[in-house]
Amino acid sequence: TKWVYTFGDGKAEGTADMKALLGGKGANLAEMSNLGLPVPPGFTITTEVCTWYTAHAKAYPDELAPQVDAALDHVAKLTGKRFGADHDPLLVSVRSGARASMPGMMDTVLNLGLNDRTVIALAAAADDERFAYDSYRRFIQMYSDVVMGLDHHAFEEILERFKEDNGYVLDTDLTAADWKGLIGDYKKLVEDELGRPFPQDPREQLWGAIGAVFGSWMNARAITYRRLHDIPESWGTAVNVQAMVFGNRGETSATGVAFTRNPSTGDKRLYGEFLVNAQGEDVVAGIRTPQDLTEEARIEAGSDKPSLEQLMPEAYASFIDICARLENHYRDMQDVEFTIERGKLWMLQTRSGKRTTKAALKVACDMVEEGLITPDEAVLRIDPAGLDQLLHPTIDPKAERRIVAQGLPASPGAASGEIVFTSDEAEAAKQAGRKVILVRIETSPEDIHGMHAAEGILTTRGGMTSHAAVVARGMGKPCVSGAGQVRVDEHAGTLTASGEVLKRGDRITIDGGTGQVLLGEVPMLKPELSGDFAKLMVWADAARRMKVRTNAETPADARAAREFGAEGIGLCRTEHMFFDEGRIVAVREMILADTEAGRRTALAKLLPMQRADFVALFEIMHGLPVTIRLLDPPLHEFLPKTEEEIAEVSAAMGVPASRLRERTEALHEFNPMLGHRGVRLAISYPEIYEMQARAIFEAAVEAAAKTGAPVVPEIMIPLVGIKGEFDYAKARVDAVAKAVEKEKRIQIAYSVGTMIELPRAALIADKIAESAEFFSFGTNDLTQTTYGLSRDDAAQFLGAYLKTGILEQDPFVTLDQAGVGSLIEIAAERGRKTRAGLKLGICGEHGGDPASVKFCETVGLDYVSCSPFRVPIARLSAAQAAL
Ligand code: PEP
Ligand code: MG
Repeated sequence: TKWVYTFGDGKAEGTADMKALLGGKGANLAEMSNLGLPVPPGFTITTEVCTWYTAHAKAYPDELAPQVDAALDHVAKLTGKRFGADHDPLLVSVRSGARASMPGMMDTVLNLGLNDRTVIALAAAADDERFAYDSYRRFIQMYSDVVMGLDHHAFEEILERFKEDNGYVLDTDLTAADWKGLIGDYKKLVEDELGRPFPQDPREQLWGAIGAVFGSWMNARAITYRRLHDIPESWGTAVNVQAMVFGNRGETSATGVAFTRNPSTGDKRLYGEFLVNAQGEDVVAGIRTPQDLTEEARIEAGSDKPSLEQLMPEAYASFIDICARLENHYRDMQDVEFTIERGKLWMLQTRSGKRTTKAALKVACDMVEEGLITPDEAVLRIDPAGLDQLLHPTIDPKAERRIVAQGLPASPGAASGEIVFTSDEAEAAKQAGRKVILVRIETSPEDIHGMHAAEGILTTRGGMTSHAAVVARGMGKPCVSGAGQVRVDEHAGTLTASGEVLKRGDRITIDGGTGQVLLGEVPMLKPELSGDFAKLMVWADAARRMKVRTNAETPADARAAREFGAEGIGLCRTEHMFFDEGRIVAVREMILADTEAGRRTALAKLLPMQRADFVALFEIMHGLPVTIRLLDPPLHEFLPKTEEEIAEVSAAMGVPASRLRERTEALHEFNPMLGHRGVRLAISYPEIYEMQARAIFEAAVEAAAKTGAPVVPEIMIPLVGIKGEFDYAKARVDAVAKAVEKEKRIQIAYSVGTMIELPRAALIADKIAESAEFFSFGTNDLTQTTYGLSRDDAAQFLGAYLKTGILEQDPFVTLDQAGVGSLIEIAAERGRKTRAGLKLGICGEHGGDPASVKFCETVGLDYVSCSPFRVPIARLSAAQAAL
């Protein structure tokens, strides 16, 4: 088996398509090499080795060591340097690289191969002793930290103390002799803490680092990240070993990161930062403040530190050229890392840049305009779930802004919440139902859970490419980073900014679009849905087959849904209309009446209210289909609970409170979700559905007359499991239709269908379809009844299922295709066998979940229906599913 793939000098054994085997970083290093770009030579150990290593108790396949040796020889040939040599030694970097970029894993070890001997050789070869010892001490610290598990703070303490004792301020104040002395201290620290010396054998170092990368695939942080991002464990990570190039070889050397376009806004402008005389990790760590790449950005930022364009014009020019070539080649915005060693540019990484949804939209639309991609490709480039970000609020421009600090606009959107200082606090607060802003000096991969729990993130250190910024953008959370004037005292639980001392629990607002930190909770505005968003939606609509409807019963929701592009109502839950002021008493009267006559009296009060509701919905939907579901929930939801409520109903009905109390007790159910609800109510009290049907038909006639648009209501019977139930209910509806037609002397067009939300209904769908004219899959109940899992109680224990991996996803969020999905397929097939062209839709929460929408496309449903705010997500998901 081939376990190792080399690259460098304009050639590579791999290509960009080999991400599964080489990981993202490895595949792209190979591709850049093939493109003839300046990439330091190296090799990639495949993800298959990771899988092997995990499966074989951290052992390697026998062929691996000779293949690594051969690859090292190859690198030696290309660089003219030998690993571990006493003269001009080859040093390497070792980096992890999974198929998807994955924070939480071992990241990088630089300068590997240095020891007490080779450092002397390096000093001689570079004719720079200080550089050599600076590199060695970095290596000891980094290797001890990520490979040997000795926290880097211990090293930093030694360094800080040394600087203090010698009156130094900057690291650059230290001389070669100083570093030499410190290296002795560092090595002693390792030996004291770990009971073994720092490894001097370069090969031992290399295999240590390789093992650390593979081992980190299974560490807790990586596992959490994979769970949150649906990354399978079986993918594994690759290891990239690459000849070192040095950004820390003096004032003509530098290192930096860049996006070929702005990852926050999508603007077509190079965006990034660099540090002179530094190594890669210095930029990301946010220890020194980086400089701007372009003059334009420098002037805009008002910085007096020179840009790369000014400082190293030649390297800058070739960098710009390479960025353009990479964009054209990959036809996507790239995120690159580079190093300049004594004026010579080297590319260390390229990948598709992570971006906000706003930027993704702009980049996609711009690239269609530039002729780089097609509209369909643009549609496929946007993560539907991310549209949520755009639909998120921004601060009302008219609102008063009491600004206490200014940081970087690291991830757009605005959020308010209580201040918390740790990720654990954030998580606890979220569980208690509180909204929080996570305030940290800087974040690390250990903060992922806190960032998830928080509404927004504020850091006092770090740039636009800091951990907090990158992760927040990925999550679509507002983030302000590097707010330097903010002082955080975690122990005292205070945050000081502009003279204000805020305590844990005080409210602040952050504006990730401007970088402002504001006092208190600030009014927000709904987002703008025109521009690139509208453009993309037009392309999506052209690409999709399924219709997208909304679940709505209030005029406000129905209107919002139409603005989001809903093509009708897929589910109007009529019971939601019963809770309104002035209605609930009538509803209670109806339930508590113990005769049909009593119920009819109460229903007569409800009729005009329901009719008015439906008129409003039909008007708003203006001829678009509207599916109205007749009363569904267990009656106990409406029962009076307090004495006051009982007294109110008692007065309205003229019935003593004691009688009502008795009746309430009699209606008690042990398991209401499987009890007296849905169509079962109509079997007991047919007059309820009769009233609702009448309200619908009368409203249809009235709305059609008002708007001139024909109204063809779709009347839906819930929780059917027996064909006879459906037929019984349908007969009542049909009879009411006849009666209204006669009264109004008008023909009424309508259809009567059912929800499929019980396994039995799915299995006998062929029978039900003999009389049902459409099906709508109620996947909330269908999930509940298929799993036998209470949808109202599952949250209490599903967490443990997800944590242990027994379930990969919450089945109430993402449709369980294997189980519930099978029932849907069966019902669709059997239903259509009886009635060709039977209209099929879904109206459970899954109708707005991208993966579930995709499944609906494969089953060939006619439409999905979801809550108003998810309509754009469903439109885009449906388009992607069809492409
Ligand atoms: C369902 O069960 O999926 C459904 C849409 O109905 P409800 O959520 O109202 O029970
Ligand atoms: Mg239901």
